[in-house]
Amino acid sequence: MTYQELENQIIQLQEEGLELFNAGKSVLGKNILATHVGEYSGPQVLIQGGIHAREYITALLLVEMARNLHNNDSVKGGGIYFIFLTNPDGAQICLDGIDFLNCDITKNYLLSANNGNTDFSQYKANVNLVDLNTNFDADWGKGRQNVFCPATEDFVGFYPNSEREVLSLINFTLQTKPSLTISYHTKGNIIYYGFDNENEKNIARDQNIGESFSELTGYPLVFTENSTGGYKDWCIEKLTIPAYTFEVGDENLPHPIGIESLPEIYNRNKDVPLLALQKAIEFSKDIDFTNPFMQNINIGVKKNESNEESYCARIFSKLSRRSTDRCSNNKRW
Ligand SMILES: [Zn+2]
Repeated sequence: MTYQELENQIIQLQEEGLELFNAGKSVLGKNILATHVGEYSGPQVLIQGGIHAREYITALLLVEMARNLHNNDSVKGGGIYFIFLTNPDGAQICLDGIDFLNCDITKNYLLSANNGNTDFSQYKANVNLVDLNTNFDADWGKGRQNVFCPATEDFVGFYPNSEREVLSLINFTLQTKPSLTISYHTKGNIIYYGFDNENEKNIARDQNIGESFSELTGYPLVFTENSTGGYKDWCIEKLTIPAYTFEVGDENLPHPIGIESLPEIYNRNKDVPLLALQKAIEFSKDIDFTNPFMQNINIGVKKNESNEESYCARIFSKLSRRSTDRCSNNKRW
């Protein structure tokens, strides 16, 4: 599969009558495409996929979910947002390699991080070599697997919420005020809930809802430990809403999980969005979307339009300024 083929699968939904809109932009200026099904009044659910480059099969899973729920009478009393592919630049690097990039500085930057290997199929980060699901401002930099220099995975960024894709997701979430969020990842057939800083009452609520997801999918429900800076963590810590990470696909399958596994994954997950909405409605009195502006969340949004050319210029000045000793002890760079 090429990146264009992946993107076409999302765009195809428009021809089927679904309205597509932008949840934001990537570092290279790609649109982060989203859609909505159901009603705009009442509790909302937000489901996002593809924040890790090589996990792009989750974007296709969300395409199938949205297709199934379009004009579906069972979506009532609220609505569901789908953000198909939060990390489009990373997905393109994973699927197409780096030849599509015109900027030699960027290419060399990515190639060094990939140990000179031109096979980027295991790539997880965005084009800045930041692992987006560690970059959110929620106990940032305290995860067990975190690394602190640019790398194809696990690099938390130079500061929290530094990445355009992360800011896009944050701003979209603040605008749409979901009562519950689900992040689709691969792999392991497991559901993560909760976060260290969460209060006991909310942990009990999230466990209760999570058990219903577990029963529906057959995936075990596990409390999150030693993981920080993820979108789920941010939703729980800053917004105090229930948020889950679904790791789909058999643990024994290699990354990236091939599209031949999509039917099995879809079958196990196809009713998750409706159950999520039902739970959001059922628990609405126990879900209080905290106004994060009251908590001084760092959401500085850069207003300048970014594209590959401006990115190339920026990365050049950034790399010229980069302190080499900061990263010299880290073998990933
Ligand atoms: Zn992931």
